[in-house]
Amino acid sequence: MSLSKDFVTSCLTGVPDPVRGKDLVSSGALQWVSACDTYASIRLCLPPEAGKPVLQQVAQLAHAKVTQIAQRNGNQVDSLIIEFVDDAGTVIHTARFGGMVAPAQATEPARNQPTPSAPPPGSAGHEPIPGLQKSAKPAGSHALPGVRNIIAVGAGKGGVGKSSIALNLAVGLARRGHAVGLLDGDIYGPSMPTMLGLGALEQAVIAGRLQPFYVHGIKAITIGKLVDADRPLIWRGPMAHGAFKQLAEQTAWGELDYLIIDLPPGTGDIALTMAQTLQLTGAVVVCTPQKVAQDDAVRATGMFRQLGIEVLGVVENMSYFVGDDGKSYDIFGRGGAEVMAQRLGVPFLGAVPITMALRENSDSGNPTANFDAETPSGTRLRDALENLITNLESQTALASMRSGAQKPVLTIS
Ligand code: ADP
Repeated sequence: MSLSKDFVTSCLTGVPDPVRGKDLVSSGALQWVSACDTYASIRLCLPPEAGKPVLQQVAQLAHAKVTQIAQRNGNQVDSLIIEFVDDAGTVIHTARFGGMVAPAQATEPARNQPTPSAPPPGSAGHEPIPGLQKSAKPAGSHALPGVRNIIAVGAGKGGVGKSSIALNLAVGLARRGHAVGLLDGDIYGPSMPTMLGLGALEQAVIAGRLQPFYVHGIKAITIGKLVDADRPLIWRGPMAHGAFKQLAEQTAWGELDYLIIDLPPGTGDIALTMAQTLQLTGAVVVCTPQKVAQDDAVRATGMFRQLGIEVLGVVENMSYFVGDDGKSYDIFGRGGAEVMAQRLGVPFLGAVPITMALRENSDSGNPTANFDAETPSGTRLRDALENLITNLESQTALASMRSGAQKPVLTIS
């Protein structure tokens, strides 16, 4: 059985509000709940004066309560993220519990790449472009406070499934207990309102900050909710850059482990400027197996490298078709992207099959269903996505280490 909003809310009626004296629900501290499958996120409004130890205590009580009652009802809680905000909506503390681990059999390491246990000083694939420092951050780019890793998902051309991969990476990472944001910067065809099932939800702004939508365990913001979808704008470079900067910097993201950015397709001015706006941990390039798509992907890889942005890996989407019976059919000649990645010396993160389910779940705004494995084809899709996410986690950790953001800790006992 999956967790539900009502279930989590009812559990929180048993947790006292340390400031107002009632329980977290009747005191009004509980602002928002999102629950899906075995993971949930909640947002509590408490004054910062309460102090972090008290907030942490509240978080622990809330977690204990939710897991206890869930277990009693035969439910499981794999991940619970509790965000504390002040009256103005500013995040003052985040507590995370649990994290889902991918099934071992679904995981194969990224190819063309040394294993995470043996980081490669100056290994092939991460050679700097002559004249550029390997970890150089584009001049004028910004870090986002509280956001640990920013990963851009790009593609040499439209229609290869870039947005679908960006969304599934975000949801998959969140299912493992990471705090994840998704920024839909694809100004040419923002598909996230549909893929996330945002429907008639309105974009909220509190104290001058855009409030992300809390859906499917992630925080999402999309340019599609800020422009009239039926009247496409003609974007000019500076205008697109300004809008993107605003989305990235004026959104109340809170603390995030990963911010996934869906870039516009191509290597034109707009994609280029957006990729330069933020201090990226790295980029993921999506392509399909066909030769023409690969040529475009080579250009996209070149764009990131020229900007001094590390390419964390290539994903081959629509690699092969999986029928309802779970059998696969190589309709496009699978494996081309892997060969291309090898040639370019960048990691190959994995291949995602074409499945009816992925298309249907995208159209119905239900991406978490891609991770439900009730049918043979569902299992193939889930395993492919889990494998991709495992490899992305490893490559991100390596990239952070290389750029000095995250140093390994040596414990001597
Ligand atoms: P892009 O962002 O590259 O333009 P999208 O992610 O919007 O591409 O995908 C285009 C269409 O293809 C969407 O309808 C999407 O549901 C579908 N699609 C993408 N990847 C797959 C896949 N692996 N299996 C089935 N349909 C897919």
